[in-house]
Amino acid sequence: MSPGFSSLNLVLLGPPGSGRSTQAALLAERYRIPHISTGDMLRDEINKGTTRGLEVEEALNKGELVNNTVVTGLVLQRLDAEDCTRGFVLEGFPRSAEQAAVLDGVLAELGRGIERVFLLELSDDEIVRRHDNRQVRREDDREEAVRERLRVYHAEGPALIDYYRKRGQLVPVNGSRGVDEVSDVIRQAIETPVGV
Ligand code: ADP
Repeated sequence: MSPGFSSLNLVLLGPPGSGRSTQAALLAERYRIPHISTGDMLRDEINKGTTRGLEVEEALNKGELVNNTVVTGLVLQRLDAEDCTRGFVLEGFPRSAEQAAVLDGVLAELGRGIERVFLLELSDDEIVRRHDNRQVRREDDREEAVRERLRVYHAEGPALIDYYRKRGQLVPVNGSRGVDEVSDVIRQAIETPVGV
């Protein structure tokens, strides 16, 4: 845990393929806080083979957003768990200003807030190139699904980014650099007190 925080609540934003999950995993390990990924939680839901899982699968394979009630329900339940009291790194959520407002509302009720929101920035060209080079392909890595995920990101992203920028919480990070360089920049931002 870095000095100055009683709990470390972090959010990672960025387009699909920006390295969000890699950075979230590194943060979780470094600060010993859980890595909460809505993508992973939704894929778990599919693997359970429930009716809700089927609905989730359809949206995921098309690259569309999953129904807000389902996603926010999963996230809120997860944040309420004991292991999140010291903090968490949330990735893949929020994906819209609406989800961001829901998250803030719930954290406020718990008397908590978000310490930092990192935005990994990467051009569309670089994203498409990275997807083409991925070793392990997911079903939603098909070209049409990637394009749709990018389309959704560009539709919802600006309002979401503005939401956090207006609150002075946004830390933009150049996501085109290597994993270690990106992770160093994020670590420094966490460990440097705001306003110094
Ligand atoms: P990516 O890195 O491509 O964004 P994720 O694993 O984060 O991959 O998400 C995969 C899919 O899960 C998304 O395309 C979307 O269908 C669904 N999903 C994940 N998070 C959310 C969310 N917060 N709201 C709605 N749908 C979501």
